[in-house]
Amino acid sequence: MDIEQFRKAGYAAIDHICDYYANLDKRPVSSSVKPGYLAPLLPTAAPEEGEDFAAIAADYGRVIEQGLTHWQHPSFFAYFPTAASFEGILGDLYATAAPNPGFNWSCSPACTELEGVVMDWAAQLLGLDTAFHNAAGVGGGALQTTASESALIATVAARERFLALPTQSPSKLEELVLYVTTQTHSLGLKAGRVLGLQVRALEVRAEDKYALRGAALRQALEEDAAAGRRPFMLIATVGTTSSGAVDNLPEIQAVLKDHPEVWLHVDAAWAGIALCCPETRDALFLDAINAAADSFCTNFHKWGLVNFDASTLWVRDRKSLTDALDITPPFLRTAHGDAGTVVDYRNWHLALGRRFRSLKLWFVLRGFGAAGFRAHIRQGIALNATFGALLAASDILTLVTPPALALTVFRLAPPDRDLDLAALNTLNASFFARLAVRPDLAITQTVLNGVFCVRFAIGAARTTEAHVRAAFDVITEEARTALALWES
Ligand code: PLP
Repeated sequence: MDIEQFRKAGYAAIDHICDYYANLDKRPVSSSVKPGYLAPLLPTAAPEEGEDFAAIAADYGRVIEQGLTHWQHPSFFAYFPTAASFEGILGDLYATAAPNPGFNWSCSPACTELEGVVMDWAAQLLGLDTAFHNAAGVGGGALQTTASESALIATVAARERFLALPTQSPSKLEELVLYVTTQTHSLGLKAGRVLGLQVRALEVRAEDKYALRGAALRQALEEDAAAGRRPFMLIATVGTTSSGAVDNLPEIQAVLKDHPEVWLHVDAAWAGIALCCPETRDALFLDAINAAADSFCTNFHKWGLVNFDASTLWVRDRKSLTDALDITPPFLRTAHGDAGTVVDYRNWHLALGRRFRSLKLWFVLRGFGAAGFRAHIRQGIALNATFGALLAASDILTLVTPPALALTVFRLAPPDRDLDLAALNTLNASFFARLAVRPDLAITQTVLNGVFCVRFAIGAARTTEAHVRAAFDVITEEARTALALWES
């Protein structure tokens, strides 16, 4: 493809993308293809001769789009949202047009320096203390692929810091324990598995709305100390995946005052973005994050309008990260790196190379402005309040936990019937099975301390009140059908 052919194909691609978004709400939300649908539609080997791009683009529309689940569909309420904005798409386009591996400042100074600046913009937007800002030169932030990788990196930094503490020396790796809760995303168990570390999942209670309390943490620390184990890190969550629970960070902060050896990582992959709205900050314990977190992660690529991937990780002490991850063979050395006058982001993440992600974050933060960004988050919260009010008035559906930001967890609870938990779970599983095959909305399930529930997560940029009300009607209709079938 030459430049003029690219110009033509590029315009056609943008036209296709515009039409896709203009007509998104007319499509089914989820793909209905069967496993293995794709291979029979494609040749068994790459073509020997290059093909005309118009034919390739047509095949994208013909064979790929039918297998897409439309996460940006206004009736997508499953998992958590995955953001897309035109500003973000254009950011990726520019970034991919001049790719470079970005591992050292010298790979492309603009990449490193823009990341430093926009991570500080993002930190300010969320109200993070200047201790986490790059500008101060002590802490700092960098873009990662995912919250899972952010947690893994934080765990490596925590482990290395712990092992270097004179008070903990000598420690054996097998004595170390990573704390999570039963509600922590699987990223905690995965970090433990990847790093060969013990993980202890602390119990949380329904009456605490599935949040970790200080007393449970203190008891675990005492038990482990008595057994000769060495807890070195806690992954606390602000906005758990299942129910949006927020671990009690002020209580955790109070306990960890007596345990400065324990690294506190706050995983706020989904909910952290809401910190841009000052009215959420008390409930999300921003003060405790600012006072006590060693690292904090949130994903702009979930609710935060930036196309996947854009996970933001901040650390209070950048040296803990670089001490853990800096391996500099001769071929990676540079004069600036040796002099310590630049940031080399290869020492802030797992891989060597990294994408120029800050461009799309920059475009989004400028294109929306802080006010526009906050308006998007407030819209999700307001729509969820509408959904919560509809649920509260329902005669057949009931909340399992209070609505959290833009997430509501509920279940079918038929009135005037005395069902035990097992029966209720069976009924709810059949209710959810009906919802799961609906083409007109996407929704997911979870289990909270043995209770089968349905999750409804709002956050796609094009979702309106009409979509939420229509979804509620569908959910109610399927609940009534599931109940009638169950009773027949
Ligand atoms: N943490 C929480 C609380 C989440 O809800 C999720 C995903 O929904 C993750 C982490 C995982 O995010 P990622 O895919 O960026 O690793």
